[in-house]
Amino acid sequence: MMKPVDILLTNALVLTMDEAYHLYEPGAVAITGDTIVAAGPESEIRQAYSTQQTIDCGGKVVLPGLVNAHTHVPMTLLRGLADDLRLDVWLMGFMMPVEREFVSPDFVRLGTQIACAEMIRSGVTCFADMYYFEEDIAKATVDVGMRALCAQTVLKFPTPDANSYEESLGSARDFIQRWKGHPLIVPSVAPHAPYTCTSEILRATSSLAAEFDVPLHTHLSETSLEVENMRTEQGMPVIPYVKKQNLFDAKVLAAHCVHIDEGEMRTLLHAKAGIAHNPSSNLKLASGVAPVSKMIDLGLNVGIGTDGPASNNDLDMFEEIRLAAFLAKGFSGDPTSLPARTALTMATRLGAQALHMGHLIGSLEAGKRADLILVDLEPIHNAPRFRRDPNAAYAQIVYASKATDVSDVMVNGRWLMRDRQLATLNEADLIVHAQEFARQIDTFLIQREQSVLSKLIAIGGAAEEESFEVQVKVRIESEQPILEALDATPIEILRQRHYHEYDTYFIFEDVEQGRLRYREDDFVDIQGHVTNVRSRLTLLGPAREHQFPQEVLLSRSRYLAPATHTLRFYREYFNPSHELEIVKDRLRFLVRYSGTEFFINIDHVTKPELGRFLEIKSRTWSRQDADRKSALVVQLLGLLGAADSERVTKDYFEVIQAV
Ligand SMILES: [Zn+2]
Repeated sequence: MMKPVDILLTNALVLTMDEAYHLYEPGAVAITGDTIVAAGPESEIRQAYSTQQTIDCGGKVVLPGLVNAHTHVPMTLLRGLADDLRLDVWLMGFMMPVEREFVSPDFVRLGTQIACAEMIRSGVTCFADMYYFEEDIAKATVDVGMRALCAQTVLKFPTPDANSYEESLGSARDFIQRWKGHPLIVPSVAPHAPYTCTSEILRATSSLAAEFDVPLHTHLSETSLEVENMRTEQGMPVIPYVKKQNLFDAKVLAAHCVHIDEGEMRTLLHAKAGIAHNPSSNLKLASGVAPVSKMIDLGLNVGIGTDGPASNNDLDMFEEIRLAAFLAKGFSGDPTSLPARTALTMATRLGAQALHMGHLIGSLEAGKRADLILVDLEPIHNAPRFRRDPNAAYAQIVYASKATDVSDVMVNGRWLMRDRQLATLNEADLIVHAQEFARQIDTFLIQREQSVLSKLIAIGGAAEEESFEVQVKVRIESEQPILEALDATPIEILRQRHYHEYDTYFIFEDVEQGRLRYREDDFVDIQGHVTNVRSRLTLLGPAREHQFPQEVLLSRSRYLAPATHTLRFYREYFNPSHELEIVKDRLRFLVRYSGTEFFINIDHVTKPELGRFLEIKSRTWSRQDADRKSALVVQLLGLLGAADSERVTKDYFEVIQAV
């Protein structure tokens, strides 16, 4: 008695990618509804099943659909926006500011459609995503007909879709509640990374994922810097740290894991975490090469992902699979490591398991979802074909096939591509709409790049803050007479500090932009030990605002903020035309004189060797106030016995320039 099914795929080389690596040629696959009923030798399948719809595959390979284990699909719209930069400059300097400005439900929908079109063409049937407005991504994916793990991002700073982490956590909860059990979408939550999340966020997202028994998607140990910082701040590497935050209470999908040791691998194994290996992204951002052969030997589920198309820059899984195999060989010096069959397994069954979806997809087996692709082995770059060793088919696909060899794609029993024609998307329309976004983003960045201030605001997330100071600076021979005078006068000392100051000035071609000063203050205690380090960023106006009698200056700084990034970051982000370094030893007094607070600085400028200076300063807010303080500053000079000293009407920067 023959059993009726909806579709029979016949005359194919069927690579099931199941645990035993069954392959059948000629093979056949029987499908009913969204499910694979059977895969096996064609003669057996034909005897067991009847159908109204037999599809002759013409000798092509039938494979389980590829699983892109880590990506950020809407970033197709940011592809090519900024390249050849370090991860922090790329992410904090470009991606995040542009995302804050442009990412909306419309943006993610279009970006998702473009990504789906590209991924279907490269044989991907399921992807693991992490982005903002993830529910809109899920909707767009369902409309296309693809399968996805969609993870709503949670970060410690405001995001395009939330003002606070509580808000994004709330929307992640709503999203998971609404979508859990959907036939195509697995909803999930994504604490972005340990360095962009607080321990509170890691704990809260993990308990949310555990509560609903859905995966948690995150980035772990991507760069050596991340691991170094974690060691410095927490005294341990990344994996033990997140374990301590109970992250592994959830089913984790961890992208990257480039810099982990064997102990950390065992922790991940014990936690049943899945890993997404992203070879192109790791190479392009110079993050390193993940030790995936070792992970697979230990039994970890390691999938392959493209990462976001802004850091790759494409979504071509064939390229990733080949690169995964080549890198493992090249870096181990062993050509037998990560053979083609294993690499292809990473992109199918192991990838599905890494997404915690191994029970649904990843191999062509009875009961699994009908997610499969047809690959044409006949193009010239793939000819000829040897049949002596049936396993040669894996090598042929991994080392010679290209994404363009994928001719047909089925997800959940539905054809999304037939004979290289997309069934659910219009590529020409998508390209037109993408170009419109590119034009708007170009305009935004061109405007931003025109001004140092707007570039500062773009990364600082802070508003412009202007401040004015009345100041006078004089040259002195020695600090001793000043210190003695300070003690002997009615000047009340409120606070006293000693520090080493390291200033780096960024100077720009256009002097009207002003100068950007990166200042590191090392606080020094009585014994001369550095007790605290503070970094600040100040944008100094191009010129003095006003000069009072007796060469008291009114100066203006247009922006002042704690420096949250490294000097190297700012250097690469602002790209100044040249730089100047000034180092000084500073004794700073906060004093009160005539009911007004002043700073008295006694500086010894050691780099370059400019000598000693006395500086008196006070913040001011109005012209009237400035006039009054200017007069008091002159009195103070007299009290300190420096009234006749040589006035330096320029700041150190200008003094050096003049030398
Ligand atoms: Zn990523």
